[in-house]
Amino acid sequence: MTASATPRARDDRAGGAAPRPGSRTVLIAGGGLAGLTLALALKQANGPALAVTVLDPHGAAPQRHRGRAYAVAAGGRRMLMRLGVWDRLDGAAEPITRMEITDSRIADPVRPSFLSFGEEGREPGDPFAHMVEAEPFAAALNDRCAGAGVSVLEAAVTRATPEPGRIAVLLSTGETLSADLLVAADGARSRLREAARIGWVGWSYPQVGIVATVGHSRPHGGRAFEHFLPSGPFAILPLRDGGALGHRSSIVWTERADEAGALLSGGPDEVLREIERRFTLDLGTLALEAGPSSHPLAVGIARAFQAERLALLGDAAHIIHPIAGQGLNLGLADAAALAEGITGALRLGLDPGAPDVLRAYERARRFETVAMAAATDGLNRLFSNDALPLRLARDLGLGLVDRLPGLKGFFIREAAQRKASVPRLMRGEAL
Ligand SMILES: Cc1cc2nc3c(=O)[nH]c(=O)nc-3n(C[C@H](O)[C@H](O)[C@H](O)COP(=O)(O)OP(=O)(O)OC[C@H]3O[C@@H](n4cnc5c(N)ncnc54)[C@H](O)[C@@H]3O)c2cc1C
Repeated sequence: MTASATPRARDDRAGGAAPRPGSRTVLIAGGGLAGLTLALALKQANGPALAVTVLDPHGAAPQRHRGRAYAVAAGGRRMLMRLGVWDRLDGAAEPITRMEITDSRIADPVRPSFLSFGEEGREPGDPFAHMVEAEPFAAALNDRCAGAGVSVLEAAVTRATPEPGRIAVLLSTGETLSADLLVAADGARSRLREAARIGWVGWSYPQVGIVATVGHSRPHGGRAFEHFLPSGPFAILPLRDGGALGHRSSIVWTERADEAGALLSGGPDEVLREIERRFTLDLGTLALEAGPSSHPLAVGIARAFQAERLALLGDAAHIIHPIAGQGLNLGLADAAALAEGITGALRLGLDPGAPDVLRAYERARRFETVAMAAATDGLNRLFSNDALPLRLARDLGLGLVDRLPGLKGFFIREAAQRKASVPRLMRGEAL
């Protein structure tokens, strides 16, 4: 069956508001956090003038995000506040008020802190970032999307074919839809990116990222800790209080891929022992509350962020090492920039899938993405290494930065994305 851009039967089934005749249509393949954020931003800004449908074989089920938590930087928080998502997180966001970084081997008896960030370079009381638990984050996005009239269909996009002025999309259900624009938010292994023959530059790291939630008997006090071990960084990131021991942190533990299997094969008690060996903060008794889950790590950037009637968003456009917790933040910034471009075109009565709209989106996002990919790749190479000259150089570098408050403030301001070029939503402004 070939459905029109916005068939009534499909929208009724999905619980979305029936679109106004003549309204434009955007389809988003991928109901991850980036895809849902774009859907909400577009629908809130454009109402019935734009039909927005999210397509995902898993629907938008929040429970598949269980056990994951992300550092969301100031720009993402401002955007989520503006979209009305932040106040629905219901205690699932914990501010990071202090960051400490050390560099030593597991066996070293003392692990001095080379770099610590407190209040410098920030407004008083303004945190570096918040740790946001992904399941309630996805649930809040889903609620807001449903309220705004975004349709969600449980189906994968299996093929997309540009036609004059439109794009035809074949679903795993056999249904065909057509739209002004298709957004590929279908993750790092984006089938749509490959089908559009958009090249990919990147490589895999010989590392995996192990994620777990650890309960502890002493409070973390809002501290985040990144301990650079020879196999890669081991980060302890504060979560909202809760769990059996009263307090919780999320760990992101980078380990050599060829050793991770053995480390994780031993059952929860042995995994907890390995975590305790690496744990640097004195947080009392520890317990494993969720996980571990293991994720292959890679860096990669699509050669283009757009093709005919197609825009790439989030991990479908770029993946980076989690050393700085910025992958999703890039995806949120993509959503802000694309929503701004599409909304601007619609307000002028222009075609939201036109090449100049998509090229402007690509220009807006490419530089920051490439810079972040290069920075995180460089940091990982510098720190996931035990060579003595490199250790000395980086320790000297960290110590130097720590003694120069102006330089530290600069790094923090950069990290907090307070640049004039950031999209309006990331500045907390309406579209
Ligand atoms: C260990 C680790 C720690 C991290 N920590 C952080 C952090 O602290 N802060 C941060 O900002 N980032 C972090 N990241 C990065 C972050 O996890 C990702 O950037 C983010 O989750 C990507 O979201 P996304 O919506 O683009 O893609 P995904 O979450 O991969 O979503 C893609 C969606 O597309 C759907 N899909 C797939 N194929 C199709 C199809 N054909 N049709 C329709 N739908 C389809 C899938 O079902 C899925 O729901 C971390 C990553 C790792 C590995």
